[in-house]
Amino acid sequence: MLDNETLVAWDKRYLWHPFTQMQDWLAEDPVIIERGEGCYLIATDGNRYLDGTASMWTNVHGHNHPQLNTALKTQLDKIAHTTLLGYSNIPAIQLAQKLVEITPAGLNKVFYSDNGSTAVEIALKMAYQYWQHKAESQRKLFIHFDKAYHGDTIGAMSVGGIDSFHTTFGSLLFKGVRVSTAETYHASHRADTSGNNASTIIHWLNAVEAALAENAGQIAGIILEPLIQGAGGMLVAPKGFLKELSTLAKQWDTLLIADEVMTGFGRTGKMWACEHEDVTPDILCTAKGLAAGYLPLAATLTTDDIYNAFLGEYRDLKTFFHGHTFTGNPLACAVALENIAIFERENLLSRLQPTIDHFRNRLQDFSALPHVGDVRMCGLAAGVELMKNPHTNTPYPFQEKVGIRVCKEALAHGAILRPLVNTLVLMPPLQITISELDTLLDIVYTSIENVTKKRTGL
Ligand SMILES: *Cc1c(COP(=O)(O)O)cnc(C)c1O
Repeated sequence: MLDNETLVAWDKRYLWHPFTQMQDWLAEDPVIIERGEGCYLIATDGNRYLDGTASMWTNVHGHNHPQLNTALKTQLDKIAHTTLLGYSNIPAIQLAQKLVEITPAGLNKVFYSDNGSTAVEIALKMAYQYWQHKAESQRKLFIHFDKAYHGDTIGAMSVGGIDSFHTTFGSLLFKGVRVSTAETYHASHRADTSGNNASTIIHWLNAVEAALAENAGQIAGIILEPLIQGAGGMLVAPKGFLKELSTLAKQWDTLLIADEVMTGFGRTGKMWACEHEDVTPDILCTAKGLAAGYLPLAATLTTDDIYNAFLGEYRDLKTFFHGHTFTGNPLACAVALENIAIFERENLLSRLQPTIDHFRNRLQDFSALPHVGDVRMCGLAAGVELMKNPHTNTPYPFQEKVGIRVCKEALAHGAILRPLVNTLVLMPPLQITISELDTLLDIVYTSIENVTKKRTGL
């Protein structure tokens, strides 16, 4: 095996990392992960780190999990890949059956792909083509939200709402209707931390309804991240908004697309965020946790109504013209099946509740820190917003890289984190123990204290 020094040198010479200013990257030595054990990552420098963001929000049961490993190896001894284009495979069939069983009632068909962005592209194209089959081909626009994140491909970016990611590519994006929610967000959150804010819900619904009215008959669908927007800064929607939005979508005869790429697989405390408000969307996207954080796999689920609209004679060209080479990969599907089996065997969702309660209690302490503004959480996902002065609502300028600095400090104390600008994201594997969670939160608390004190000379 290569020694650590060579690995570091080759990383810098040959790799281009995602969402990374490589000039900064080259100035420091990277942590190179070699192994995993449960919630710990073990690096080539010999250090052990708590995986505070579940390896980019994907890991569910911990790393190097014996049963997931066995499921993968068992499938590997049969076949690694075969195509769903013209043929089928066993794990893809079994998983589709299981996904239909565990998703909200009414979602009966599964279309596979490899990642969250493609799951969203598929949802958008499916909705778009659906309306053509329904002889409403003027429905071409999607309503989407401020601060939304649906992935980095062109279609997914087009329905995104994070300007810093998307403006560079502005002229490539297709036209949609962006609903503004950002300016009311913080006010509402401060007013009522329980997330029950009737006036915010009304404000947002009015904005959506205005968009629907202004573009009457032209809206193909409304896409959102249910309950919590992830990459936009871990922004929790007021309780009840999702339900009301789904009612509104029905009233205006348009489709609701729930992007559960982050929220799916137990992250919010239930299997799906939509379950909290008893909502069945017309289309649901899942990816990150689907294969337990082991392999790239995504699925876009939809209703019989949408599926049936694509049925017809071959010559009618009603086929859904979309597909990826690795669609329904047997290895990934086999791991996903075992992922769900573990949820069921271990009754993980009920076992998770005390962990979430503990997480909430401990996070309350963070508000006492002088440079912590909002602390937002939903299930086992949280955002701790660092602020120059929370009382005057003054953020740290992004150039100061306070979020990055705190994460570096946390690394020195044994935890791996990644910030969203000045919001620290805490999203451990669901199987984290209470004592591991305490360790993680202690590290984060101390790291915030150390960095913000130093920076301001308090
Ligand atoms: C991560 C994410 C995506 C994109 O998934 P990729 O696998 O990175 O393409 C889409 N939607 C949401 C809500 C996400 O969190």
